[in-house]
Formats: sequence, C-alpha cells, structure tokens
Amino acid sequence: MVTADPLSPYAPNPTVGIAAATVGVSKVHGSGDTRVVALDDVSLAFGEGEFTAIMGPSGCGKSTLMHCAAGLDSVTSGSVRVGTTELGTLNDRQLTALRRDRIGFVFQAFNLLPTLTALENITLPLSIAGRRPDRQWLDRVVSMVGLAQRLDHRPGQLSGGQQQRVAVARALVSRPAIVFADEPTGNLDSRAGAEVLGFLRDSVRELGQSVVMVTHDPVAAGFADRVVFLSDGRLVDEMACPTPERVLDRMKAFDSRSRTS
Ligand code: ADP
Ligand code: MG
Repeated sequence: MVTADPLSPYAPNPTVGIAAATVGVSKVHGSGDTRVVALDDVSLAFGEGEFTAIMGPSGCGKSTLMHCAAGLDSVTSGSVRVGTTELGTLNDRQLTALRRDRIGFVFQAFNLLPTLTALENITLPLSIAGRRPDRQWLDRVVSMVGLAQRLDHRPGQLSGGQQQRVAVARALVSRPAIVFADEPTGNLDSRAGAEVLGFLRDSVRELGQSVVMVTHDPVAAGFADRVVFLSDGRLVDEMACPTPERVLDRMKAFDSRSRTS
C-alpha cells in the first residue's frame, strides 16, 4: 500500500521507486479555432508495484495523459520518464523499442489479432522483439489470468472477458516496467470487468507489476491502491486506499463544485 507524500501531493511514497512520471506536462491538440488544451501542467509519479487509477469525466484528458506518459503521443511542454529514461531524449526508433520492451498496453477494444491463437497473441510482442518467452513466467501469467485451457482458441472463440484476459497476459509477458490500461473494462459486463480488474490487481500483488489504469468507473477505481482525479486537463485531487463509495462521493463533490462555480 502506498500513501501520499505530504510534500508533493501527486508523488507516491518516497520509499517506493518510480516506474514512470510526468513533470509539468502540457498537451495542446489542434490549433486556432480547434485548439484544445488537453493537459495543463500535469506532474504525476507512478510508484513501482503500485496500482494507480486515473479518474475524471469524459473529455478531461485521461487518455491524453496515458498516451503522453506511455510515449504514444508527444508532449507540447514538460517531460516524461519511464524508469530512468527521459522520453524526450529518444529518437523514433528508440521510442518504439522502449514502448515494445518496457511498456505493456491494455485497451478498451482488446486489439487482438483474429487469426492468431490466444497463445500467439500473448507472445506476439516478444516475437516481434525477437525475444523468446521465459517459459516459467509465461506459464505463471497464463495461469494467473485463468487461460491455461484456452491457449489454442482464437479471439472469435473467446468471450469478451476472456479476450481482455489475453490482452492482460500479453501486456504482462514481457515483464514491462509499467502497464497502461485505458478503460480496460469499458466493453465488458460488470462480472467480466471485475474479473479483469482482479487480474490486474493480482499482477500488482503477486508479480510486483506497476499498473496505471484510466477509468471513469468508481467500481474499477476501487481496485487500485491510489486514485488521482483529473478535471479539465489538471490534477485536482488524489485518494489512497479508494473504495467505490468514497470515489463516488468525491466525484459528486467535484460535480457540485463545478455547477456552483
Ligand atoms: P478522456 O480520455 O478523459 O475522455 P481525452 O484525453 O480523450 O479525454 O481528450 C481530452 C480533450 O482533448 C478533449 O477535449 C478531446 O476532445 C481533445 N482531444 C483528444 N484527442 C484529440 C486529438 N487527437 N485531436 C484534437 N483534440 C483531441
Ligand atoms: Mg479516454
């Protein structure tokens, strides 16, 4: 469990290493009439072995923050580091390699290749990198997400929840420095969603994985160790040891404040 450092509200406990961080990150989309400030001076550190949820209403910049922190999108100003690597110092080829080798991704739309089996999908990032899977680790990840009996199935033969479990295993198999998940339960019913969230949490508890999840669902946020709240591109609050009830209360407080202001 990680508690907030009182000196720096959006840094994890100083005894915990930092898996990734943004420092003064701003992101502007478009220009002129279509100019949108999606992120405004966001400084945020994600702890090692910590499960962080990023919450906030639709359009507040959650996906943009994730894309910038994961090197999928460039920042307009500020800097991003993954482990000890400053992303701004990397050329395109190095950035691609960093995303492939150091970061795991889980998206709302599972993004599996339909012609490959579950096992082939899970090991695809390693194959692309020319690495061989660590068999023991692969077995552990596969059994953790309960897919041992489904490895020969293609995505079309799996339920949505099973497909997202394949995507979670794919994200974990390269032992990345950090896993980013953007609304991973957005396409799942609540039972399948809870299963996937439980596996993400297990990956933190049992494998020491660092996980960052974007969500607008208080129930999903309740699986995390820590929730940070984003509003209009700015960090506005955080909560340690969240429960769905406390997260919901906090969100209602934001809503009423923005209505009266
Ligand atoms: P969230 O994930 O919280 O719903 P986003 O990060 O997707 O929010 O979007 C934040 C803001 O930036 C929104 O106003 C959105 O319309 C805008 N935006 C996001 N991506 C782009 C883009 N590629 N081009 C222009 N505007 C964008
Ligand atoms: Mg989004």
